[in-house]
Amino acid sequence: MNIDSNYAVNILKAMLEIYSPSGAEEEISLFLLDEMRRIGFERVWRNNVGNVYGEIGSGSPVILLCGHMDTVPGRIPVRIEGERIYGRGAVDAKSSLAAMINAAALLKLSNLEGKVIVAGLVDEEKGGRGIRALLRENININCAVFGEPSGINNITFAYKGHLKLKVVFKTPTGHLGAQHLLPNAIEECIKFWLRFKRVCEEKYKSPQGIFYSLTPTIAKIYGRGTTNSIPDVCSLGVDLRLPPTIPSKRAIEIIGGLIKEFIEESGCEINFKATSIVEPYVADRENIVIKSLREAVLEETGKEAKLVRKTGTGDMNIFGLRLKVPVATYGPGESRLSHTYNESISIWEYLTSIKIYKKTVEKISLLYRSLREKEH
Ligand SMILES: [Zn+2]
Repeated sequence: MNIDSNYAVNILKAMLEIYSPSGAEEEISLFLLDEMRRIGFERVWRNNVGNVYGEIGSGSPVILLCGHMDTVPGRIPVRIEGERIYGRGAVDAKSSLAAMINAAALLKLSNLEGKVIVAGLVDEEKGGRGIRALLRENININCAVFGEPSGINNITFAYKGHLKLKVVFKTPTGHLGAQHLLPNAIEECIKFWLRFKRVCEEKYKSPQGIFYSLTPTIAKIYGRGTTNSIPDVCSLGVDLRLPPTIPSKRAIEIIGGLIKEFIEESGCEINFKATSIVEPYVADRENIVIKSLREAVLEETGKEAKLVRKTGTGDMNIFGLRLKVPVATYGPGESRLSHTYNESISIWEYLTSIKIYKKTVEKISLLYRSLREKEH
């Protein structure tokens, strides 16, 4: 089997042609299982939530190259125009996953010392079921690269966290004609939201910029009033992005305090709960994964890599906080195109990222062994 640039472009195109929004990853997972088997992965398996894994090599270190198979919904016709490939997932993040698979297949041919596991996870864009299942499998992993679009010259070392909240406001109802006498759940909800947003801006906005600020977004609002009655229920969905200085517990305290105050003032009944939590994560910039990535980027592109912080959230957050091993996120593509109808990737960038992943693994393997020798 010839793992060349033709093959690399073809497998990416095939992956883009399989539509795989979160929850519908089965077809692409079966495709990847077959494909990894065909190009020489030594062990290939699929777990109970549908993640696929392909393994090459043996011994240590065990290096995880971790991508995701799911995309946000919305079909984009797959096509090559000039030097770019278009398709849903071209940026976020099938190019990264395809590049990792190609890199591992090439590493097999070069007789790497150590083991590489490529993982294609499910549900990264939604609830993170894939990464949580991976952690439950207790695979022994020494370090990991997460494949998300950072751009060929950037390495992502930090992500904000997120906290999704559902806040429900209840007020007594009555005849709409008595509106001057009765509170209105929708209006109370809006009042609260505006206050909360103002408090975030006044107290939790950092002069160092958005990465260090607590940033709230209203994600959903639903109010109910029966015929001719004043609305008595309003439910608010809030998406809060957490800087490393404000973990979820602190953010819950902040919003909980404001809700308590608001209840006392307004007499509303308010309940709230967190529906999703991912803590912020900052990797050690000197770890062996980042060192190796930096060298590989410089050698392959001739330019110094830039270390960047992202205002989104990645599977790296969940993994890095749990396993406490060296990690970084790296992948081809401009993340500003993620989730848009313009998702497309430069073929040159994609092919270069294969070389960078491959070199990175080789460098990690060498660094890891020299560290081990120093310890003994
Ligand atoms: Zn992604």
